[in-house]
This record gives sequence, C-alpha cells and structure tokens, in this order.
Amino acid sequence: MTLLQTPAVSLAPQHTSALEDAQAQLAEAVAGLGYDEGTHAMLSKSRRELTVSIPLRRDDGSTQVLAGYRVQHNISRGPAKGGLRYSPQVTLDEVRALAMWMTWKCALLDVPYGGAKGGIALDPRLYSTPELERITRRYTSEILPIIGPQQDIPAPDVGTDERTMAWIMDTYSVSQGHTVPGVVTGKPLSLGGSLGRASATSRGVVHIATAALRGEGIAVAGSTAAIQGFGKVGRDAARFLAQEGALVVAVSDQYGAIHNAAGLDIEALAAHVDTTGSVVGFGSADAFAANDLLELDVDVLVPAAVEGVIHEGNAGRIRARIVVEGANGPTSRDADAILASNGVLVAPDILANAGGVIVSYFEWVQANQSYRWEARDVEARLEERMLAAWASVNEHARAHDLTLRAAATRLAVARVTEAHRLRGLYP
Ligand code: GLU
Repeated sequence: MTLLQTPAVSLAPQHTSALEDAQAQLAEAVAGLGYDEGTHAMLSKSRRELTVSIPLRRDDGSTQVLAGYRVQHNISRGPAKGGLRYSPQVTLDEVRALAMWMTWKCALLDVPYGGAKGGIALDPRLYSTPELERITRRYTSEILPIIGPQQDIPAPDVGTDERTMAWIMDTYSVSQGHTVPGVVTGKPLSLGGSLGRASATSRGVVHIATAALRGEGIAVAGSTAAIQGFGKVGRDAARFLAQEGALVVAVSDQYGAIHNAAGLDIEALAAHVDTTGSVVGFGSADAFAANDLLELDVDVLVPAAVEGVIHEGNAGRIRARIVVEGANGPTSRDADAILASNGVLVAPDILANAGGVIVSYFEWVQANQSYRWEARDVEARLEERMLAAWASVNEHARAHDLTLRAAATRLAVARVTEAHRLRGLYP
C-alpha cells in the first residue's frame, strides 16, 4: 500500500474551538431548561482529567516524549465511556469537548454510561507499528488507575483502531493478572469484539440520513449525497447509502476530493483506497478541491472527519438540504445559526454518530455476559435505538420550536441532571 505522507489540504480550519462550541451548546440547554448556575457549573466541568507524559523509545534509539490525556466528563449515569484519539491536533481542551459530547451522546441514546475521551498528540502515520504499540502500552499504563470495565472504557476514535484496543486490553489485563475483555470496546472479533461494531457508526449515520430524507419528503433511492472523509465512518456510510439506492456523488479525504454526478462506484473506490491510501486518482471521477465538497448542491452532506469544518466562513454557502454529522463537532456554533436560518436540517453528532457507542455498549454487555450476539441482533437493536432517539429528538424539537441539536442537547442534559438529582450531592 502506498501511503501518501503530506496532506494536500487541511480538513480543519478552526474558527471557534470545539470546547467553546460544546460550552455554548451546554449554556443554551441549561438556559432553556431553566437550571441554576450551580447545576450549570457542575455540568460544564470535567469530573476528572489526567494529563500524562509518554516517553517513547523510537526505532532509531532516540527518545521522544508525547503528551496524552484522559478526561472523564461525567460519571453520573454509569462508567465513563469514549474513544481514544491519535492526532496532531489533540489538546486537553479538545479532549474536554469530546468527553462532554460523549456524556450527552450516551444520555441521549440511553446507554448507561457517562462520557470520557482520551487523546495523544501525534500523527500516527509518522510512527512504525512497534512504536505505536509502545506508545499505546505506556499510555495505558499511565492511565491505568482510572480505567476499567466499571470505571472508564476506551474505544477507537480518529487515528486508532481495533489493534490499538487489543494492546490496551492486553496491557490492562497483564496488570490485573487475568483477561479483562470489558475494559475496552471496538476490539478485534477474535478477542471479544462485537459483530457489527466496526461499521456501527456508519450504519447509524445512514439510519439517520434515511430517516431525515423521508422526513423531508425526499425518496432515498436517487437522492444525492456528499461525504467528507473516507475513513472509519465515511467509507461505510458511503457504502450503506449506495446500498439504499442513494447516489454518492462526491467524497473527499485529507488529500483531495472526487466527484461523479452519476454516483461513485463505492466498492471500486474502496479497493482504490486500499491500494493507494487515498480517494485521489480514482479513475471514474473528476478531481476537485476538498473544501468545495461541503458546498455541493446535494440532498445529504455527511461531514465524517473532524471538528469545525463548517464554520461561519462557509456555512452560508452550504447548499445541502440535510447535514448528517458523522464526525464529532463538525459544525461550529456560528455556523449552526446560519444553517438554521437558511433552512438546512442538521442531524447533530450526538444523535447521528451514536451508532458506534451503542454497539460499544452491546460489546460490553456481551463481555459481561460472556456470550456473543448474532450480527442480526446487533443490527436490529442498533436500528431500534437510533430510530427511537431520532423520533424523540424530532418530537422535542417540534414541541419547543428548537433545532435538532438544541433539542438533543436539552434531552441529554436533562437526563444527566436527573441522575445527579436522584443520587444527591455527597457529602
Ligand atoms: N469514538 C466514538 C465516538 O465518538 C465511539 C466511542 C465509544 O464507542 O466509546 O462516539
């Protein structure tokens, strides 16, 4: 496989930061729910934050020290839960925002978890597999005191995968003296991973995209879609959308974008990406600038990469009828207001990309039960939860004249606050 090393375009022109956006969404929900300042303060602060230094022995014998984080935003509804991200953009503030969004996501989908996130500031493409293994194991041993199947359960996110989860599970298990499959989710199938976990986020995105299309009176078959990102989320989202009969007319990655008005052949494109490492150069399509993908005139736009890609500078030019947020935090708060006033329907991240954590929950339940579910059970229960949440968010939005994001955040914040209230404040 040829890996392209230098991204041609940046996917993340940040305007407001992820943490500013997350805090503004919370403030709006707290105001709408009429909560007091003390409740707001409790919800806005992380419960626990750990910053660690990860000394790495590089393959050439030199030593480098990386910065790593694990933030547990809230644990009122259950163990902390959330992914681990390897990206050069990782900062403590970014991890704080992502952890807060996990709290709302788990509450909204009613999985019995709080929210967490981890990150290490590094570009995983610049490290060998043995180096990544040493980084992961050392990071795991540094955060060991705060993770565990009943404490905090990491999962894959940007830049990490099932192999990373296997290393974490092994490091944790060695420290305990026995195998603990429930300490992470998103594991390889042969180590207790769940059927359907790898494609769960994408499946969930497509459940929401098709529900939104139908809600807008647009037939799914023949509808058009553009997808930003062709990684863990975007790739299978493109595949499932195409299987539903939608025309995926454009996709991009960090190297560029491709377009075919008749619909891209997603299986052929996936094979091209497996060989070359990028969508760029795919034969049956025209190349264009990656940032222009967001502004295509399509029925559904799926940002499935990173935060802050739809911002005040480009929101006014978004022509999609529906935005389904496959990524966490792709739309800044200023952009949200512009999209709402232009009548663009935004299915928010904490709803649209929740398929991953839902099946993570199923994986954890299977670990606790020591029993594997069939793929059809996983998929049916995933669909049921996604559509139930879609219905309740829409109903709340209609009843209170809110955007879907404001409705979803309010529902989630209310559930977390209810858990706080019932447990009481100790001492
Ligand atoms: N990283 C995914 C997310 O942002 C999955 C988290 C999990 O499964 O714990 O939702």
